[in-house]
Amino acid sequence: MNFELTEDQKMIRDMVRDFARKHVAPGVLERDQNGTFPRDLINQLGELGLMGMVYPEEYGGSAADTVSYALAIEELARYDASLAITVASHTSLGTGHLAMYGSDELKKKYLPDMVSGKRLAGWGLTETGSGSDASGMKTTAILDGDHWVINGSKIFITQGTEGEVFVILANTDKAKGAKGVSAFLLEKGMPGFSHGPKMHKLGLRSSDTAELVFENVRVPKSHLIGHKDLGFIQSMKVLEGGRIGIGALAVGIARGSLEDSVQYVQQRSQFGGPIANQQALRFMLADMWVQLEASRDLVLRAAVLKDAGKPYNKEAAMAKLYSSEAAMKICHQGIQLHGGYGYMEEYHVERYYRDVKLCEIGEGTSEIQRMVIARELLKA
Ligand SMILES: Cc1cc2nc3c(=O)[nH]c(=O)nc-3n(C[C@H](O)[C@H](O)[C@H](O)COP(=O)(O)OP(=O)(O)OC[C@H]3O[C@@H](n4cnc5c(N)ncnc54)[C@H](O)[C@@H]3O)c2cc1C
Repeated sequence: MNFELTEDQKMIRDMVRDFARKHVAPGVLERDQNGTFPRDLINQLGELGLMGMVYPEEYGGSAADTVSYALAIEELARYDASLAITVASHTSLGTGHLAMYGSDELKKKYLPDMVSGKRLAGWGLTETGSGSDASGMKTTAILDGDHWVINGSKIFITQGTEGEVFVILANTDKAKGAKGVSAFLLEKGMPGFSHGPKMHKLGLRSSDTAELVFENVRVPKSHLIGHKDLGFIQSMKVLEGGRIGIGALAVGIARGSLEDSVQYVQQRSQFGGPIANQQALRFMLADMWVQLEASRDLVLRAAVLKDAGKPYNKEAAMAKLYSSEAAMKICHQGIQLHGGYGYMEEYHVERYYRDVKLCEIGEGTSEIQRMVIARELLKA
């Protein structure tokens, strides 16, 4: 077992860390307070090859491995989780679904602009009536000549207003439930395809979340992704990879909370000396560090398995479950260590605490991860 990163992995991590410190950290509080979508930063990440780094060179990617991708998401999330979730959902959900299952024709036409970050991708599975039980979706796609006619809506879609290319899931054979769902590629501007306003959220406030609405959207037959009725199975595979990204997001946010806390307890003085001298707080910091390292190891283990082409379903679920719940605790303690100052907006720990909650919800809640893990354990 080798715990050493390769030179390439270290190079990517260090490059993203450097970029995040110089360009992402300044302005993060303002973006969060104003809900400003970080389009400029996305353009810069695109220029650095970080909006589709895991995809093949023929589409403009750098064929980086999943470990490098997870490290990059952690580095971005350390300073701005809103930016990190934008990159992660664009890369692993919308772009990922097309890259994994799309026809050569669709990939040639759309992937290069997605991989370069020129066009942001969104992914629509969730509906108002179907979240954890996504197979209960109501959106339909009916074949009419050379087109699929799509009707319905999707809720909580990341990049809902800023995205330009979307992969959405719809019923193509309602009677077959999950086995009658297919995936389609939609473009912003197709007649009948609209979105609601940006939704106001607890955290990740400068990321973009909105409803998508489809009213008789005519989608060319060629925009069916992969085989008809296999969209649900495709989605489960897409989410498997996505969970590594959410795990890395949790690790990045938690690291922010720990690093800020370490600095704060050494500066803050009470009872005649730095509060870092208080054993109760030292124990708290020690526990935070252990949980952070364990989380990262789980995330990277899932990434290593994915890169080796081995099954990683339960490992990705474990990584997401553990790291998001550990990050919740770490971010909670980060505020405690900062006392009243931690409750104030100008100290980042308050934002970490709000942002990190999404990690227990998005791409399958903690309860759904436990279902996935228990199913593997019990073989039923
Ligand atoms: C900021 C944000 C961004 C998102 N981005 C996207 C996106 O880009 N694309 C997309 O498709 N979706 C997206 N989502 C949706 C997200 O994936 C869903 O919110 C999530 O899967 C949960 O679904 P739900 O909200 O309908 O909750 P529900 O499924 O209604 O769950 C409510 C509660 O019941 C629990 N529960 C449900 N079923 C069970 C069960 N069988 N056993 C035990 N507990 C259960 C859940 O764990 C949860 O605690 C996003 C959500 C948020 C908040």
